[in-house]
Amino acid sequence: MRREMLLINCTMKHSNISLFVPHAGCPNQCSFCNQKTISGNAKELTKEEVRETLVFASNSNLSAENTEIAFFGGSFTAINRDYMISLLEETKPFIDNGEFSGVRISTRPDAIDKTVLDILKEYKVTAIELGAQSTNDEVLFNNRRGHTREDIINASLLIKQHGFSLGLQMMTGLYKSSYEKDIETAKDLIKLKPDTVRIYPTIVLENTHLAELLVSGEYKSPSLEETVSLCAELLGMFYENNIKVIRLGLHSGGNVHEGYLSGPYHPAFGELCESEIYLKNIRKKLFEIYKNENNSELKNVTIYVNKKEISKATGQKGKNKKSLLKDGYCVTIKGSENVEKYQILIEEN
Ligand code: SF4
Repeated sequence: MRREMLLINCTMKHSNISLFVPHAGCPNQCSFCNQKTISGNAKELTKEEVRETLVFASNSNLSAENTEIAFFGGSFTAINRDYMISLLEETKPFIDNGEFSGVRISTRPDAIDKTVLDILKEYKVTAIELGAQSTNDEVLFNNRRGHTREDIINASLLIKQHGFSLGLQMMTGLYKSSYEKDIETAKDLIKLKPDTVRIYPTIVLENTHLAELLVSGEYKSPSLEETVSLCAELLGMFYENNIKVIRLGLHSGGNVHEGYLSGPYHPAFGELCESEIYLKNIRKKLFEIYKNENNSELKNVTIYVNKKEISKATGQKGKNKKSLLKDGYCVTIKGSENVEKYQILIEEN
């Protein structure tokens, strides 16, 4: 059995048995895509492998009601229809026996229609994630996505009308995109009311069109710093609209490192963004409190955050505390049960 294709992603409440469908049948070649590199698995997934993986997972003591089978990595509904159904057929006995709670898939916005949604319903697919990437038609065109903003809107509405959970993926820093265009994309996605969102900063991988643009100088990757600042903004926008961001940044698994050429990759990217949210919030509050005071005097303050969020508020290697010290604040960060995530309370010492 090819163990590398089985990836069980567990959180406290949910587990995904991830099955990669690498580029199979996808008619496109998006500027940034090298599925071979991302999934670390270039061979076509066979139905035998699906069966073996699910048998293995069913013996792994996973909670049935919180575990889903997830077909990721390709454009599931764009692959050959018989092949797609043959993969779903393998999941059916495990769902019917109650061993796993459902199936998730990811696909392209232009590979969604009523017929395919009816098929997915029949096979107990519960959640569909669309690779939207941007809602700007110029950005979509220049990154060879092969679909439009309208396709994203139509597919999202259809998915919701059919009662599936809707997931939307967006990318930042694409060729011909900008800070403003990425913010606009997030605003558009919020209007579509997805249940979940994934945010992926663009990483340039070998053997992609983007790699050629990088070499010719037509594309330059945004820095890690500016991407963290943008993504912190996006994260805050989705949070305020009660939309769960289930992924921020690429997984460190797979063979990303081997194909990596350029781009804001960091193994703890999500945490960097959350720390940035805290830094911005703390700075804003401190400015409000001390705006009329002498700036040359060092001020001692205690900041209360949710007790699970102390390390994010402190920043990696104390980065936030060091930045605030440069601003003239000697900060002690403490946890409290009465403070919500991203909120802060300031006590002057
Ligand atoms: S649609 Fe998805 S699988 Fe196809 S080329 Fe684009 S990113 Fe890759």
